[in-house]
Amino acid sequence: QAKSNGNNQYFFFDRDLKHQLDRCLLIENELKFAANRREISVYYQPKFMLESEVLVGFEALFRWHHETLGFISPAEAIPIAEETGHINLLGYYILDEVMEEVARWQRDYQFFGVVSVNVSAVQLRQMDFCQQVKFLLEKHNLDGTYIELELTESVMMELTDVLPKLEQLKSLGLKISLDDFGTGYSSLFILKELPIDTIKIDQSFVRTIDDARSANIIKTILAIGSNLGLQVIAEGIEDTDSLNTLKGLGCLFGQGYYYARPMPLEEVVHYIKAHDTAE
Ligand code: C2E
Ligand code: MG
Ligand code: MG
Ligand code: MG
Repeated sequence: QAKSNGNNQYFFFDRDLKHQLDRCLLIENELKFAANRREISVYYQPKFMLESEVLVGFEALFRWHHETLGFISPAEAIPIAEETGHINLLGYYILDEVMEEVARWQRDYQFFGVVSVNVSAVQLRQMDFCQQVKFLLEKHNLDGTYIELELTESVMMELTDVLPKLEQLKSLGLKISLDDFGTGYSSLFILKELPIDTIKIDQSFVRTIDDARSANIIKTILAIGSNLGLQVIAEGIEDTDSLNTLKGLGCLFGQGYYYARPMPLEEVVHYIKAHDTAE
């Protein structure tokens, strides 16, 4: 009896694994066509100054809507794109799109907020990543100071030549943001060694801000930021309570569903017009 149960479990395990593999292969294959089929889009989530409610910028987030598979999340697609190297093309496409829009928002709507783009280790590892960025800035006649690159701790730890790369990006005017701060390792080493402008408090701390330990960690991150002269932004603000607690702790910037979910491009201009923006 017990043995046959065990076998059943193996059977289910194998079948699940096979499903997973099939899905990976499918996604890997479909990803190759996604950009040309115009299935990829960039959504934008606003970032605010908490006290004044001034709209200071957006975070660009990749969205993929496949005609038969439906919506495929970045959490599922990005790791596969990284493994196959396809993220390089995808990331280039996203940077190109974002810069085009940022230049247009400046030109047509006098919006001069900073827009951040997530960059993976695989992308940054490309020999010519900085040249790509420089080329795109020139293509869109855009000042690099309006673009921020969001990198995670693991990205910074993985790359041996990360310092010269970041310095080169900084020389183009770009800002560097440390995403999901506190969830990786060696955070303080990174802050000591690398030219970071912004720390993003990971949403796992914000979501549990009611817990005294989380609140204290946030307080500590804010102190680190202020002592090192870095901007600190909280991600994942979902309600008034967490917003007020963050304000009370002295956090100046934030983003999250409380303000807005990531929105399609078509809604951004309307959103900019409807809010106070940084001069
Ligand atoms: P991330 O950069 O930390 O982005 C924040 C994620 O939290 C986004 O999920 C966003 O939609 C979500 N979020 C924002 N506010 C809230 C909130 O109040 N509550 C909750 N529960 N979630 C919130 P998304 O868009 O699914 O992206 C997930 C991750 O995928 C990102 O984490 C980032 O690491 C990666 N990613 C997304 N777009 C790109 C991209 O264009 N390139 C690269 N390399 N990675 C990307
Ligand atoms: Mg991010
Ligand atoms: Mg994050
Ligand atoms: Mg994340």
